[in-house]
Amino acid sequence: MKEEATSRKRKRKRQRNPKNTKEEPDETPKNQNNDKKRQRDTKTHGGSSASSKRPKPSNFLDTLREKLSGGNFRRLNEKLYTCSGQEALDYFSEDPTLFDMYHTGYQQQMTNWPELPVNSIINWLSSRSSSLVVADFGCGDARIAKSVKNKVFSFDLVSKDPSVIACDMSNTPLESSSVDVAVFCLSLMGTNYSSYIKEAHRVLRPSGWLLIAEVKSRFDPNNGGADPKDFVKAVSDLGFSSSLKDFSNKMFILLHFKKKEKLNSNKKKIEWPELKACLYKRR
Ligand code: SAH
Repeated sequence: MKEEATSRKRKRKRQRNPKNTKEEPDETPKNQNNDKKRQRDTKTHGGSSASSKRPKPSNFLDTLREKLSGGNFRRLNEKLYTCSGQEALDYFSEDPTLFDMYHTGYQQQMTNWPELPVNSIINWLSSRSSSLVVADFGCGDARIAKSVKNKVFSFDLVSKDPSVIACDMSNTPLESSSVDVAVFCLSLMGTNYSSYIKEAHRVLRPSGWLLIAEVKSRFDPNNGGADPKDFVKAVSDLGFSSSLKDFSNKMFILLHFKKKEKLNSNKKKIEWPELKACLYKRR
């Protein structure tokens, strides 16, 4: 009898709190083919595991709150990948709190990555002269500016720090031929991404560097992504020469270019491949 009552109690508890076996929303890029095994792998490769950094929600309400914020992040992320830069600017300018919401979710996603691409870029810059002037297109929390000695112009849709210039990065206030390094770290998000690269071309000095880090799955032709060759060709046709193609990381690719000394006389229309959105799913 006593045993029956205990089992009824247990059952009621399960009904009140379904799924309380999995408390944290676990989001990884949908098109990254991230199975559970890889997540385990990721965590054993010295990466910062999500669970080690994120405090565990203490109760059901915390869990619910976390799920809602995960949903908001996914919605905003999809918005950024499926609209133009100008639309994104208007959207966030109307309600800058959405930007915080996006970045909270973004930072959480990044805890699943064994290595952050922004750190590769910081290392690259640190190994060169600090006199190089840098433009960080889509800077997020401006980690590059905070980490290197160089003069860094940081651009994003919303400015959360006096050092960040709020603008659509297809139209920055920089003078033409005024910077040595243009960085796009996971920021080629808008449907008009080619206009961001054209803006980088405008502001770069001849022989200046263009450094691009992007989500690997966006460049996986076997999985609906762009062919990296088409992308490299389009950037080269704009007036760059390719100097590095690094596909060694699981999560992101690194592409480095140098701005050609001479303007391209070939006025042929550039074929920019479509870069598919990097969407995150609830797991
Ligand atoms: N580079 C940072 C942040 C990447 S998240 C890092 O590696 O951590 C991508 C950032 O690009 C977001 O902060 C987003 O607001 C910004 N972004 C996307 N489109 C933009 C645009 N058209 N103009 C300016 N910033 C943009």
